[in-house]
Amino acid sequence: MNLRIPGPVTIPEDILDIMDHQMIDHRGPQFAAIQERIVKNLKTSFQTKNDILLFTSSGTGGLESAVVNTISPGDSVLAFVAGEFGERIARLAATYGGSVNKIKFENGQGIDSERVAQELKNAPNTRAVLVTHNETSTGIMHPLREIAHAVRANSDAVLIVDGVSSMLTADAQIDNWGIDVMVSASQKAWACPPGVAMLSISERAWKANANCKTPRYYFDWSETRNWLEKGQTPFTPAVSVYYALDLALQKILAEGLQQVFERHARIAALTRQQAKTLGFRMFGDERYASNAVTALFAPEGVDTEALRKAAREDYDLIIGGGQGPMRGKIIRVGHLGWVKEADINDCFAAIGHILEKVTA
Ligand code: PLP
Repeated sequence: MNLRIPGPVTIPEDILDIMDHQMIDHRGPQFAAIQERIVKNLKTSFQTKNDILLFTSSGTGGLESAVVNTISPGDSVLAFVAGEFGERIARLAATYGGSVNKIKFENGQGIDSERVAQELKNAPNTRAVLVTHNETSTGIMHPLREIAHAVRANSDAVLIVDGVSSMLTADAQIDNWGIDVMVSASQKAWACPPGVAMLSISERAWKANANCKTPRYYFDWSETRNWLEKGQTPFTPAVSVYYALDLALQKILAEGLQQVFERHARIAALTRQQAKTLGFRMFGDERYASNAVTALFAPEGVDTEALRKAAREDYDLIIGGGQGPMRGKIIRVGHLGWVKEADINDCFAAIGHILEKVTA
């Protein structure tokens, strides 16, 4: 199968093999050593000295933890939204009583950092800022460095970034750029199964946490940190996913972070080039084209859902579709994780054959 969705992604054989390993005592020294190594290697991958916490959950659990640990009911929150995942985190904050002001950008556009600066100047009481680094629904990688700079220059609000699908696909310098909370998830570019959310937490975020009145239990940060210091997790972790993540991180750091970013950029460029050759058009502003997923309008007269169906049934090729208002209008080709040139070449060779049939 050629799994070209933006996560979960195909897992390399050695990572699959390491999961074929007996359970261990999650309160014993072996688990503590694995967790310690994962946290250390995640700090390097996140380019941070901040605390790293892990939760056995999907990425949304990590995002929920960020909200319930830093935003109290009634707090002013600015959410910069340019797609479905931006909408989702804004909804999450509102669910827990945040007073959320959504600043919307058109789907397919990049978030404008000058607008971010202006909105923060207009709202000096803002307690938290929500940004999605890679908007998986539109194939846009927002300019996080500039956005973070605009936030830090104009506000002391906690900057919470959804990096679920961006981490590893592009540079994200948590400490240098002043990102307070960065959230990712194991099934994305880390190329592990779903099941573990990871996040970095700055001093500023811990301060907000100390004053945060929102009730929480499973996702309580300070409780999780206390257990981490003992080499454990408060609740039973997804042990097999920890095995996977441990090896994946060692492989990533052996390759080198810059090399991993460059590999993603190269594969993304190949995807765009192959797509255009077949008559596809980029959905969004190409200046912000994502290294993780490419969103495309099909050539004139081609039904995207029929194309996806034929790809699945005739070529075992699984391509993402549009989400929300983009449903039925675009396709999304995922290329995060250990994707090879051949995976992209095969994907577009199959799409080429399908197009020949439907336009014949
Ligand atoms: N945020 C972004 C940008 C995503 O791409 C995704 C998943 O695709 C999520 C959040 C949600 O993650 P999960 O499905 O792991 O909860």
